[in-house]
Amino acid sequence: MSRPELPIYFDSTMNSALHACPRKFYWNFILNKVPLGESIHLVAGSAYAAALHAARTAQFSGSSRLTTDELLEACLPEFLKAWGDFIAPEGHAKSKHNMLYALEQYFERYHPSDDVIQPLSLTSGKPATEFSFAIPLPIKHPSGEPFLYCGRFDMLGTYADRVTVLDDKTTGYFVQNWEKMWLMRGQFLGYVWACQQLGYKTNDCLVRGCAIQKTQIKFLDCPITYPQHLITRWYKELLASITSLVWHYENDDWPYDFADACSSYGGCPYMDLCVVGDADKFMNNYQDRTWSPIQLEA
Ligand code: SF4
Repeated sequence: MSRPELPIYFDSTMNSALHACPRKFYWNFILNKVPLGESIHLVAGSAYAAALHAARTAQFSGSSRLTTDELLEACLPEFLKAWGDFIAPEGHAKSKHNMLYALEQYFERYHPSDDVIQPLSLTSGKPATEFSFAIPLPIKHPSGEPFLYCGRFDMLGTYADRVTVLDDKTTGYFVQNWEKMWLMRGQFLGYVWACQQLGYKTNDCLVRGCAIQKTQIKFLDCPITYPQHLITRWYKELLASITSLVWHYENDDWPYDFADACSSYGGCPYMDLCVVGDADKFMNNYQDRTWSPIQLEA
């Protein structure tokens, strides 16, 4: 069997997996295996993100202010495309119907034209209602090319007169101090770092949460200014992560966590492969998937 490839791209999802457990990274991003079936959180989050992008594009590509119904109509095709033929578990709060209701509530509260964050114009002249990047890093991939740090987020805009990254997140509910969850979040530090590399003067991120419940939809805006020393610290750790990744790959050594990563969030999805003597016999419980680092995380 030929040796699986080491991806030349790296992003915040990969970084989290590598930090949690190198073996998890191996299953997920080297062998490209994921459990059979789809996660409702991923399907609903992707459909929500695709719909918001479509609605903003529709609003900013025309001159008249769209009504909520018109915004919903504009985003429905992208929403349905992202949802596909997925069937949500009976009674789940993130049903197709409830996700569309959440979008309606979103447009009522944050109509694109009146939103507190407004998109910047890209050099192409288009509004930055989605933003993706791939930035070369000073570490060489085994191919001899530099690794690329990649990502994609929902908007680069102006908020309170400051250039700001907007990221829309869906959740089941807001835990106490929900905003504190993002103060050390590498995903957002990476977005801000990337914008700085591309010449934008920003240290700011607006994390906009939408809690989707059976009986109500709630929103919460969390503006965060990341101090430069934290961005520098994150970047140093990023390079250390990729250096360790190259070592794991070259030595074909992917340690197991044997600790919290195995049991958190209801149990690691790769547990079936890790507990057995011969993981190959259980691979038919998993399917192939190639990770796209510019997929929106919702
Ligand atoms: S079950 Fe534990 S050791 Fe195995 S991949 Fe998951 S976190 Fe790593």
